[in-house]
Amino acid sequence: MSVKIDETLTVECETGNYHTFCPISCVSWLYQKIEDSFFLVVGTKTCGYFLQNALGVMIFAEPRYAMAELEEGDISAQLNDYEGLKKLCIRIRKDRDPSVIIWIGTCTTEIIKMDLEGMAPKLEWEIGIPILVARANGLDYAFTQGEDTVLAAMAHRCPEPEFSVRERKETIQNFLTFHSRKKEELGEYANHPSLVLFGSLPFNVASQLNLELKRQSIKVSGWLPAQKYTDLPSLGDGVYVCGVHPFLSRTATTLIRREKCQLIGAPFPIGPDGTRAWIEKICPVFGVEPQGLEEREKRIWEGLKDYLDLVHGKSVFFMGDNLLEVSLARFLIRCGMIVHEIGIPYMDKRYQAAELSLLQDTCKKMCVPIPRIVEKPDNSNQIRRIRELQPDLAITGMAHANPLEARGISTKWSVEFTFAQIHGFANARDVLELVTRPLRRQKNLEDLGRTTLVRK
Ligand code: SF4
Repeated sequence: MSVKIDETLTVECETGNYHTFCPISCVSWLYQKIEDSFFLVVGTKTCGYFLQNALGVMIFAEPRYAMAELEEGDISAQLNDYEGLKKLCIRIRKDRDPSVIIWIGTCTTEIIKMDLEGMAPKLEWEIGIPILVARANGLDYAFTQGEDTVLAAMAHRCPEPEFSVRERKETIQNFLTFHSRKKEELGEYANHPSLVLFGSLPFNVASQLNLELKRQSIKVSGWLPAQKYTDLPSLGDGVYVCGVHPFLSRTATTLIRREKCQLIGAPFPIGPDGTRAWIEKICPVFGVEPQGLEEREKRIWEGLKDYLDLVHGKSVFFMGDNLLEVSLARFLIRCGMIVHEIGIPYMDKRYQAAELSLLQDTCKKMCVPIPRIVEKPDNSNQIRRIRELQPDLAITGMAHANPLEARGISTKWSVEFTFAQIHGFANARDVLELVTRPLRRQKNLEDLGRTTLVRK
């Protein structure tokens, strides 16, 4: 069969009229990740309602986040913002004793121009707890980009590397002579400059990635964020950094420009293909030749065979709301699926360059056209396209999931990919478990003779 392949990658832009979670939702996973943190969302009841509903049962588990709810008086500047926030932070210190308080700015603090950045250092000095400010508001950002704003703020608080200029020179010298040495001579780890990974991952997934790099004798010096605020990694000139999430472009820019780190541009470790490519981009930077990756990837693909049979030849449409779309689409294409469209809230072509090029290579390898990438999509236009294309699966938010299901289109709720463990070799099965669940259910319903629930 000959297929005409469109080899050019184009990113279209629509109206930005789409559904997504507000970026303040990042508190839900970040407070769990950073064990000694407390998040204070400074906003209105709207933000409170959203958090309460979106985070479901979590709100009953005494989470380490709260709302500082603005009143009429705050908005008309009759009340003193500084005194109000001070009272709240003193109470948080007394009740929870966190190592850091993170203020999350919202749409309202932006519109009334509340000077959170100005107040934070003064209050920090007064009450003796670090206070960070992240403007994770719905005016500027979408969903997972909330984490990006928090990590960019946190990067400023990372300590400088402890070793002196002389020691640093020695390390670089060692690094330069490294290429001439054999791997066996180097013991468990190669002697290389610091590598810090950025992106919040559950403890076990972060350890799996540490272990993958350890297999290549590369040591991960630290993670941004660390399990505890007090364990933030050292950053500075000569430190290499690499991201694990596609939505951390601001953090990457901060690390390069402000902290003077060297960014390793790599595809993201999602799916066995992405994980291998990620490791393969890191290794040469430290003069290490990757070992045994091809066989490891092959073994993982073999283990996925049951799922691959289910998805092969099926088509999928990403409406786009969490910025993981390109990496997921690339993995699904490699699994044999056809991707009609990759909607995405925001595309940083520089930060995602390696991922986009892997997407292109994957399409060539699988002999399928490169899907259209639509930045800031328009959900109504997308629904029209879905009706025409009739994909086997639409990956979408809750607003469209049930209406599409009722019209015979299987859907997968996109938010689950954000909370599920999808990174590394070991978790590729989990991604396919999520993707195939609606397909399996649809098949069962077809057997019962039911496909649509509304009149066409
Ligand atoms: S979009 Fe703005 S107002 Fe709405 S929940 Fe988010 S920060 Fe609050």
